[in-house]
Amino acid sequence: MHRLAQLDHEFIWHPFTQMRDWLRQEPIVIVTGKGAVLRDIHGREYLDGNSSIWTNLHGHNHPKINGAIQRQLRKIAHSSALGLANEPASALGQKLIRMANAELRMANKYNSKFEIRNSKLEKVFFSDDGSTALEVALKLAYEFTRRIGRQSTRRASTQAGHPEFLSLDGAYHGDTVGAVALGHIDLFHRSYSGLLFRTDKVMAPYCYRCPFNRAKPERADARNYRKCNWECVGKVEQQFSIQKKKGNPYTAFVFEPLIQGAAGMIPQPDGWLRLAASIARNHGTLLIADEVMTGFGRTGTSNSELRTPDSELLFACHHEGVQPDFLCLAKGLTGGYLPMAATLTTQKIFDAFLGKYEEFKTFFHGHSYTANQLGAAAALASLDILQSASSHASRHQLEKNLHNELQSLWSLPNVGDIRQVGLIAGIEMVKDWKTREPFELRKHAGIRVCEAMAKGGVLTRPIGNVIVLMPPYCATYAQVKRMVAVLAASIKTVFGR
Ligand code: PMP
Repeated sequence: MHRLAQLDHEFIWHPFTQMRDWLRQEPIVIVTGKGAVLRDIHGREYLDGNSSIWTNLHGHNHPKINGAIQRQLRKIAHSSALGLANEPASALGQKLIRMANAELRMANKYNSKFEIRNSKLEKVFFSDDGSTALEVALKLAYEFTRRIGRQSTRRASTQAGHPEFLSLDGAYHGDTVGAVALGHIDLFHRSYSGLLFRTDKVMAPYCYRCPFNRAKPERADARNYRKCNWECVGKVEQQFSIQKKKGNPYTAFVFEPLIQGAAGMIPQPDGWLRLAASIARNHGTLLIADEVMTGFGRTGTSNSELRTPDSELLFACHHEGVQPDFLCLAKGLTGGYLPMAATLTTQKIFDAFLGKYEEFKTFFHGHSYTANQLGAAAALASLDILQSASSHASRHQLEKNLHNELQSLWSLPNVGDIRQVGLIAGIEMVKDWKTREPFELRKHAGIRVCEAMAKGGVLTRPIGNVIVLMPPYCATYAQVKRMVAVLAASIKTVFGR
């Protein structure tokens, strides 16, 4: 075993990893990356099939982002945002706010019939990663609600008088304790229930496995052949009504727009988000959009009926004409280079924290590396690339290429559903597509397929029985073709058909 692999085995504890299995084999040790390709210590090359856990946008070692970081490094790497402003973070704040508002205007210009009551985003609170972006939104929403005097009259012993939150079944919003409380994936969250505050959950769309979908399985995305009466929207309406009867509307409705990631890449049918968001708004509930995975062009250029003719929407919410009160961004913010996150919010929320010093209305929250200059410089460069015409054109093409290639997988009997939203694809494997019967989790079907894919030179991670393909935006057609071909070959190897 290579010396570096040995060091890893001796000292490192990996995230979301059964370490007993990890220690049984030599790990892949990555040393370099270029574009969509990662290279290991033995000189073997791999395609980065999940954009390094959904973070990378324009490829590894991008000359423009490298240059921006190097230029910033010649000035300073980091100074604290506690008491000090800095150059790239201020510019980034302005850019994010302008982007978020301009895009919503654009969405509504072309789709005025869909307009719902929306917020204007005006302030940015920087933090470190997706989890902390959600923590910030959660604490701000909680405290805002208490301050404006709209809190529970319910006297439940566990949550006396607290603002309450609603999130989606299968929700995943990060691993810090507040973010875990918003989550509803038993496997990840159950063990920590004693640590958590209670949140309610509501049915999320999952057309492929929806109990209300009367359609028999077909060889197509279940969103497109479902037979239902939008019962999932009815469930949202019902949940808000139940809460209203308790005399305390929800403080905030938290959701991943267009597609839930860690739940298994589960997309929402067109129109769901707009309907769910307007129900929440009608109940006076704040909207927290978790765009940690979906932000920065991931959800593509053409997936929604609300697409604009001459431009694309870089945030998933805007595809449905929704502007939340909190827009949580991380992962792709720096193009996948550095850990940095942002929570965008409204003037109204900001104002609730203003007052004389001795009123102690300050938002007492912040991290050591908040508004880090290297991260902000990388983010500015990444956003410039993202907004260029050539990036837009190549993403549009890549989305089509990915779609075309994925169609070949329908011929495999163990592929049950292929779900694509922009440049995100989830391929759900089943015992037989005609029955939709799932593999038991302990059979680790997904893990085995991904191990076979790694041998074939494509790296990605499964979510249970769902294989994720999420190429960096720079991936060529040949690279996407190869990702899908290696996935098909791996499924055949593992299941023997
Ligand atoms: N929200 C979503 C939708 C995510 O996908 C993730 C991470 N996969 C998070 C939050 C947490 O982000 P991080 O791992 O950067 O804390």
